[in-house]
Order: sequence, then C-alpha cells, then structure tokens
Amino acid sequence: MIPALYIVATPIGNLDDMSRRAVSVLQQVDCIAAEDTRHSTRLLQHYDIRTRLQAYHEFGGDGQLDSLFRYLEQGRSVALISDAGTPLISDPGYRLVRRVQDAGIAVVPVPGPSAVIAALCASGQATDRFCFEGFLPARANARRESLQALANEPRSMVFYEAPHRIVACLVDMADIFGGERQITLARELTKTFETIVRKPLADMSQWVAADGNQQRGEIVLVVEGRSAGRNDGMNDEARRLVTLLIDDLPPQMLSKRVAEYCRLPKKQVYDYILSLKK
Ligand code: SAM
Repeated sequence: MIPALYIVATPIGNLDDMSRRAVSVLQQVDCIAAEDTRHSTRLLQHYDIRTRLQAYHEFGGDGQLDSLFRYLEQGRSVALISDAGTPLISDPGYRLVRRVQDAGIAVVPVPGPSAVIAALCASGQATDRFCFEGFLPARANARRESLQALANEPRSMVFYEAPHRIVACLVDMADIFGGERQITLARELTKTFETIVRKPLADMSQWVAADGNQQRGEIVLVVEGRSAGRNDGMNDEARRLVTLLIDDLPPQMLSKRVAEYCRLPKKQVYDYILSLKK
C-alpha cells in the first residue's frame, strides 16, 4: 500500500455491501478518520478492524484537519470514512482532499455504496444524464427558491431529504414541477423496509402524506427532468437515439427500433423523425 489518503466507501445499510478491498485498506492504514467514531466502531468491530480511529468533521476546526494532514506528511496512510456510503457525498472530506492533493500527497478512492447511485439506478428514471442536488434548504422559502431554479432542468434530479420534511418537500415539488412529473421515492435502501416507488408527483405527495410509514427512515427522491415543453410525446432518451442514428437507418426501421427500446408509439417516433428530415 502506498502512503496516501484513502477515500473508503462503507455500506448504506446492509453490512454485506462492504467490499473486500475496503476491509483490507481499513485494516492496513495507520489511522481511520471518521465522522462519528462511536458509530463507525460498530462497523469496524463487525469486520474485526482494529486500526486507530480519529474524529474528522468538515467544521471540526483546523486542529482536526492539521493533525490528519501532519500525519500524512510524515508518510503515513489515512483512510477517510463517513457514517454511511461514500465520503464527501453530502458528507465531510472536501477540505481535506483539497489540502492533501495540493501538498502532492496521493488521494486514492476505494469506491462502493452511495445512496445517490443506488436510488438512481433502481428509480426507473432516465440515467444517461442526471444531476445530484444533495439536501434542499431546510427553510420553506429557500427550498421553494431552489426548486424554482430547477423547474426547467432536463436531466433526472436526485435529492436527499430528511423524513420530517418529506411531506412539505413533495407538496412544493408538485406545485413547482407540476403534478404529472414522475418521481421515485427510494427509502431505506438495502435495509429491511426498503421501498422504491415511482408515481406522478401529485399522487406521491398524497400517498406519502396519508401513510406515516413513508415518512420514516432515510430517503432519496429522483425526479424526472422536464421534457422541454415539447408536445411531440418524445422523451430525452428517444430524442438522443434518433439524433444518433438518423443518418444510418431508414425512418421506418429507426422508428421501429426506437419505439421498441423507449416504449413509445411507433407512429409518434416516425412523425418526429420526419419532422427532423424536413
Ligand atoms: N455519503 C452518503 C452517500 O454516499 O449516500 C450520504 C450521506 S447523507 C449525510 C445521508 C443521506 O443519504 C440520508 O439523509 C438519505 O437522504 C441518504 N441515504 C443514506 N443512506 C440511505 C439509505 N439506505 N436509503 C435511502 N437513503 C439513504
């Protein structure tokens, strides 16, 4: 192992999601920097990892940052972990990574679970392009402002949301994005009560408000991007496929293939292709 800062992903619920490489790195480094050392002790005990633990918070003061940095400067290796998932993804670590890299010390990712990717890939929303918005502001006015700024975003949007704000957040989303937009609620991923449900925003907002169980645990929301106000019935993926293949396939065959792949009516795709040819 080279002396470096290792960014090690840990499970978001199911302990079996820990990679062998993650265990091995955590066993071999000189020190593990953790957000909450008590919380991380449970995971480390489970894998019989006895490496020294040190607290690290983004706003834990320069003392914590300096002490980890000095350790790395001496040619030692440090692993950064967060309470769950991938460090730096809505979690601390950015300042440390920046400083370590600027000093010419290696930063090595040890990838693994992250709620954003787990939710997105099981969401049923377009995955070819997406944006990650992390947590929306807690205050209602600021949250609505942030949502307004995203109203025309064409990519799928991924949000983390706290359970006590989920109902208010869905009401605002339905209001600002429109009730027909599809949203996926991904709750308690990889855990016993894992729930992944996709519905139009208006229905989702009512369903969650009426069922207290859906307001518990850890939640990711994946919202369909805006289809740019076009009324030709095409979605972004179908549009991109047509653009890619329009010079290679005759319209009949192209519309058949794209319609099958994107589950759209063939006539609709055919009309769209003709409109482009014109
Ligand atoms: N670093 C983590 C990652 O890579 O996903 C995220 C940390 S952030 C402080 C915690 C938020 O992630 C939770 O409030 C929730 O929105 C989301 N999250 C974490 N674990 C989850 C899970 N098992 N199911 C659904 N969402 C989860």
